[in-house]
Amino acid sequence: MAQLLQRDGYRQVRNLLKADVLIVNTCGFISQAREEAYTVLQELAAQKQPGQLLIAAGCLTQRYGVQVAQQVPGVDGILGTRRWMDIVELIGQLRASPHPGPLYHLPDDALTMGMDEKDTLRASLAGASAYLKIADGCHRPCAFCSIPLIKGTAVSRPKEVILAEARQLRDMGVREINLIAQDTTDYGYDLGIKDGLADLLEGFVKVIPDMDWIRILYAYPGYVTDRLIDVMATHAQILPYLDMPLQHAHPDTLKRMRRPANMDWVNRTISKMRNVLPNLAIRTTFIVGYPGETEEEFETLFDFVQATRFDRVGTFQFSFEPGTASESLGDPVPQEIKEYRYDRLMSMQQSISLQINQSFVGQQLDVLIEGRDRKKGIFLGRSYRDAPEIDGWVFVEGKLEIGKIVPVRITGAMAYDLTAVHIK
Ligand code: SF4
Repeated sequence: MAQLLQRDGYRQVRNLLKADVLIVNTCGFISQAREEAYTVLQELAAQKQPGQLLIAAGCLTQRYGVQVAQQVPGVDGILGTRRWMDIVELIGQLRASPHPGPLYHLPDDALTMGMDEKDTLRASLAGASAYLKIADGCHRPCAFCSIPLIKGTAVSRPKEVILAEARQLRDMGVREINLIAQDTTDYGYDLGIKDGLADLLEGFVKVIPDMDWIRILYAYPGYVTDRLIDVMATHAQILPYLDMPLQHAHPDTLKRMRRPANMDWVNRTISKMRNVLPNLAIRTTFIVGYPGETEEEFETLFDFVQATRFDRVGTFQFSFEPGTASESLGDPVPQEIKEYRYDRLMSMQQSISLQINQSFVGQQLDVLIEGRDRKKGIFLGRSYRDAPEIDGWVFVEGKLEIGKIVPVRITGAMAYDLTAVHIK
C-alpha cells in the first residue's frame, strides 16, 4: 500500500495532525490484536482533523468490516486484506464526493484472493531488509486458527513473478529477503509443484546470487523436507535459521489442535537439521492453555522445550476464536492456569536463551545495521539468528553505516539481545 501511494504522489508524514489520510493496517486473528486495533482506530477517530480521512485496512476489517464501521463511527473507508491494492482508488473515491457512511472495499467471495499483481512490488521494505510474500492464505485445518477464514485458501504467487521481484529488491539495495506466507513450506502445492519451497530457493540462488541473506519464516512441521534441508545447507546465502511454529509437544493436544502430532518426526527432523546445519537457529511458537490441556500434557511440552533448547520461543495463551473448530471442544483451561503455564514456560526458556546467547560471547558474527541510538551512541543490528521485528538485537559500538552488513565481535549477552564491537 505504501508503495502504491508513493507512486501516486503521496508521502509519509510523522505528525498525525499533518496527514491527509490515516491508514490503520489491522490484525484480527486473536482477541488481543482485535482489541488493540479497535483502540487505535477509536483514538484516531476521536482526534480526526477536519478533512482528514481514516481508513481501516487489513485482517480485522476483512472479517469484521461492518462491526468496525459500527464501533468506530469516524471511519471513512474499510479495506479488506484481500483488496489492499485498491488503496489509491478508495482514497480517490472518498475525496471525490461526500459520503454519508464508510465506503467498503471487501471481496464478496470468501475464496477470492487479492492476488492480482497490478504491476506492484509486493514486498514490504524497511531499509536494507524486505519481506517477500510468496503465497497467501492457508488450507491447513488447525482447529484454533481463524486465518483461513480471513485469508481464504492458499494461493501461491508464480515463481517468475517472485523471482523478478527479488531481482528488483536487490537492485534497490536490499541485503536481506525474508520469505513469508501463512505456510512457506506449502509453496507451490496449488500450482502442482512438489517441494516448491526448495525449488524456489534454488531459483533465488540463480537469480540473485549476490543477495546476502535469504530467511525462511513460518515453516509447517511435517513439510520440512530433506531436499529443503539440503538446499539450505548447500547455499550460504540461505540463512541457517528456521521459524517452525510447533504449537505443542503432546500428541493428544496436537491432535485436538488438528496439527501434525508425530513428535518422532519433529525430534528426528530437528536432529537432522542440526547435524547438517551446525549453526542453525530455530524459532518456534507454542500455545498454552488449549482446551483440555492437562497438567501432564503441559509437562510434556515443558520437558520438550527444556530438552530441545530452541534459540527463540514465543508463547501464546489460548483464546477461543469465533468460527474455528476449537470452539466446539469445550473444557476450557482457567485463565490463571494459562498464565501460570505461560510464565513457567517463558521463564525456563529465558534462561536457555541467555545460555545460548552467552555461548556467542567472543565469537564473530555478521550483523545487518538497521538503526542508531544516538543517546547511547550505539548501532542496532541483527545477525542471522535474528528475524526482523520478532527476535533480538545486536547492539554494536563503532562508526557504522546503516544498511550495511558488518563483522562484529560479541562482547556481552542478555536473554534476548547481544552487545558487540565492530571489527575493522
Ligand atoms: S498453518 Fe498456520 S495459518 Fe494455517 S491454519 Fe494452521 S496456524 Fe493457521
